[in-house]
Formats: sequence, C-alpha cells, structure tokens
Amino acid sequence: MTSAGRFAPSPSGELHVGNLRTAVLAWLFAKSSGRDFLLRVEDLDRARSGAEAEQLRDLQAVGVSWDAAVVRQTERTELYDDAIARLTAEGRTYECFCTRREIQEAPTAPHAPQGAYPGTCRRLSDAEREIRRASRPASIRLRSDVKEWTVEDQLHGKYVGVVDDLVLRRNDGVTAYNLAVVVDDAAQGIDQVVRGDDLLPSTPRQAYLATLLGLQVPEYAHVPLVVNHDDVRLAKRDGAVTLGDLAAVGITADKVRGLILESLGLPAGPLLDAVPEFDPGQLPKEPWVWKTPRGLESST
Ligand code: GLU
Repeated sequence: MTSAGRFAPSPSGELHVGNLRTAVLAWLFAKSSGRDFLLRVEDLDRARSGAEAEQLRDLQAVGVSWDAAVVRQTERTELYDDAIARLTAEGRTYECFCTRREIQEAPTAPHAPQGAYPGTCRRLSDAEREIRRASRPASIRLRSDVKEWTVEDQLHGKYVGVVDDLVLRRNDGVTAYNLAVVVDDAAQGIDQVVRGDDLLPSTPRQAYLATLLGLQVPEYAHVPLVVNHDDVRLAKRDGAVTLGDLAAVGITADKVRGLILESLGLPAGPLLDAVPEFDPGQLPKEPWVWKTPRGLESST
C-alpha cells in the first residue's frame, strides 16, 4: 500500500483562497515527505451539482495535482456499511431515536463536555426500543468506552479531545462524516492528514474510531485557517475570494498561488519548486489575514 496525503473537499460550492491554501499545504506536506497525493470528494452531504468539476479545475489551476483517480464517497457506501457491521457485531453500536431537540433538552451529567450526546438511547430496554422504532427511523451511534482521546499533531503537539457516542449513520441512512473519513483514509493508504485547524476538535473521535476498527491512525497536521480583516474565517461574502472572482478583477491563478506561497514564507513560482524549501517547522502559526490585492479594493 502506498503512503499518501490527501485533500478531501466537500463539493458544496467553489473553493476560496482559504480552501486552496489548505490544499496547497496538504500537497506540500505530502510531496516533501515523499508521499503520493490523493483527492477525495466528500459528497455524502451538501453536494451541489457542478461544484466538483469547478473544484478540481481550480485545484489544478493553482498547481495541485493528484496521483490516482479521484474517489467519491457516494460510491463507497459498502465500505462504510462493513465497518458499521463490524462494530455492531462487537456490541459497539446502538440505535438512537433522539431528535435534535430532545438532545438539547436532555439533562446532562455534571461535568459532561458541552455538546456531547447525553446517552439517552444507550440505556433503552428492548421493549422501549421496539416502541420507538415504530415512530422514527433510528440513527446508529457508537457505544464509546472512553470520554476523551489523545492525538499527536505535527503543529499542535498533544491534543486531548472529547469522544462521545458519536453518530455513525444518520437516521436518513447517510453515513456520518467521522466514520466515512476514517474508513476512507485507511482504505486509500492515507497516513498523513493535513487539513484546516477547525477540524482538530473532531480528530480524537476519528483516531479512537480508527483504533476500534484496527486501522492505522494517520499522522495529523492541522493548519491555520485564512481569515478576513475581522479575524473571522474567510467566506464567500468576503469579496473576491474564489479564482473566478479574482480572475474577473485581473488576478490570475498563478498570482493567487504566488500569494499563497508567500503567505507561507515560500517563493512564488511553480509548486514543485517550493518542495525543497518547505519546512513544516517554519510555518506561520497564526491565521493568514486575506487582503484583497492592492488596487482592487474599489472593484470588490
Ligand atoms: N470534507 C471536509 C471539509 O471540506 C474535510 C474533511 C477532512 O479533511 O477530513 O470540510
């Protein structure tokens, strides 16, 4: 099996410079450590027709390339079902009938971490479960043995995070992100996960799940996000932030790649030329504040 890094966008819309910077970083981490680079489209949820093609085009335009055919999560349901069946056979899952509201309103145990599932359906008797099945389709949750789990992150060091009885399959039948990501990374031989640091809090759950499934836990590097001038994570409403918008005001994809590389302390130019210069230890630890390139303020 190869050793690989990856970028795993959700095809919900066009990528913006923040997403593109994370992709460039993931590519640089992979290539500078002799790994392949893979692209996985996380289309289980929030997919918008046409977005995948736009995203792949924009990634290529900034120089991000991949070494195998693109994988789509909607084509891999069997793998996810197998993993859930394995956990179920070990008594590690249960059906949950709670609505969002019931979860919010349930009394939580003292010291329970905020947002953690309170465990209501974990304790249902067979008879109660039978009654509830008639009223609502169930989601499948993990019967977790732990309350927290520790991961090692290349940029954040040791990170301890909450593990609750997370959802593995939603009650509309769609596989949950945390399960799919763990199964896919292992099945694709991905042993290096580089992504935005907004996903760091989910990482202990994923590492725990990988461990239960007997899968290798990848190396992690959670990179700083790109923010607007109010220090808020960059979004489409922040003006010209996609390659399409930027091209319309005269900023080419090559120029955008140059700005991204310079924000990382690397020379502008082809991505391949940045590989020998790339040193994860030298990466800026702070978010990158996106400023509309000079001269364009009035056109955005
Ligand atoms: N598909 C997720 C997103 O676009 C990223 C998941 C990951 O990198 O693990 O936010």
